[in-house]
Amino acid sequence: MDGKDFIELEEKYGAHNYHPLDVVIAKASGVWVTDTEGKEYLDCLSAYSAVNQGHVHPKILSALIEQAQKVTLTSRAFRNDKLGLFYQKLSEMTGYEMSLPMNSGAEAVETAIKLARKWGYEVKGIPQDQAEIIVVDGNFHGRTISIISCSTEPAYRKDFGPFTPGFITVPYNSAHAIEKAITPNTAAVMIEPIQGEAGVIIPDEGYLREVEKICYTNKVLLVSDEIQTGLGRTGKLFAAQHENVRPDITIIGKALSGGFYPISAVLADRHIMGLFKPGEHGSTFGGNPLAAAIGYAALSVIEDEKLVENSEAMGAYLLDQLSEINSPHIKEVRGKGLFIGLELNPGSGGARRFCEALKERGILAKETHHHTIRFAPPLVIDKQTIDWALPRIREVLFLP
Ligand SMILES: *Cc1c(COP(=O)(O)O)cnc(C)c1O
Repeated sequence: MDGKDFIELEEKYGAHNYHPLDVVIAKASGVWVTDTEGKEYLDCLSAYSAVNQGHVHPKILSALIEQAQKVTLTSRAFRNDKLGLFYQKLSEMTGYEMSLPMNSGAEAVETAIKLARKWGYEVKGIPQDQAEIIVVDGNFHGRTISIISCSTEPAYRKDFGPFTPGFITVPYNSAHAIEKAITPNTAAVMIEPIQGEAGVIIPDEGYLREVEKICYTNKVLLVSDEIQTGLGRTGKLFAAQHENVRPDITIIGKALSGGFYPISAVLADRHIMGLFKPGEHGSTFGGNPLAAAIGYAALSVIEDEKLVENSEAMGAYLLDQLSEINSPHIKEVRGKGLFIGLELNPGSGGARRFCEALKERGILAKETHHHTIRFAPPLVIDKQTIDWALPRIREVLFLP
């Protein structure tokens, strides 16, 4: 069987809910992936920032193999000897007192919504079933019914209603709009500090700090979705730290496993997380010993290899170099750390064809929102590899 056969199988037997580039990856290591024909590509998507540590990181792989030979799943009906250490590591690294482990990012967002509502009723005194959560235009928080209920993207919503009530949408990048939308029933504001799926949209300097202040003044929780921006992607552990903001609740996922396994978590201090009582929330796989061992190793790699610092340094270099490309196609290059969006002019025919052309030259990037190419390689990338990629990216951006 070759690449074409595998594509045919996917097309015939799998749901068509994605539109992938036709590269069939058979193995990977660090920043490189290899297709079924043996051709190598530089991965500039990192599985939407799930492999920040690089593909098949040896230390995380060892942790997985070692733990998989001992015990993989106990359910939370019993305790295991890995979960406590994972909690402790999370707390020490992030500064939050407690965490709640789930699997996918969407599940962690659902968990945060439940936690914020519960806080709204039990602490703030919002009348039953009246809690509101403010979200912003262009958000992406996942794909469950409740989460798409707060989406403003027609493709995510059409034909999937009826929706979950309790979400109020305001324009992104306007603290004033949030302030105006707050009512006595507002439990939380939920936000991505930098919008990923919307096309690496960075709000104005000071926005998040202002939102934090408004939340504090009005007794509203600030919930930050750092599933994509967190764990070093933007050159800080969390993107909110660029503004010295410490949200009440932070949601992480993706790179929490370094790409080995779906692991997500909600982070908060005791006075909020402590509101969950036995039986009120759970997950069969959440917090299992295999996930805890992998998560512990994935966090350790970020620390030990100084990936946050490398993201900052390499990101600044890549952003600077991309900004110097004088192509008529480029509308804007923006980014923080190794989270970079290159937006093309509307007349350039969309980002897809540029991603196809990059693929031909050995670079995998994915279009986001039609006109933006996202460059988000694993955080282990070095300058030499960036210098290998730059002439290829330049060439593609001068295609007619
Ligand atoms: C990917 C992502 C999610 C959803 O995570 P899944 O693991 O795909 O459910 C939520 N929020 C943001 C910001 C994301 O990038």
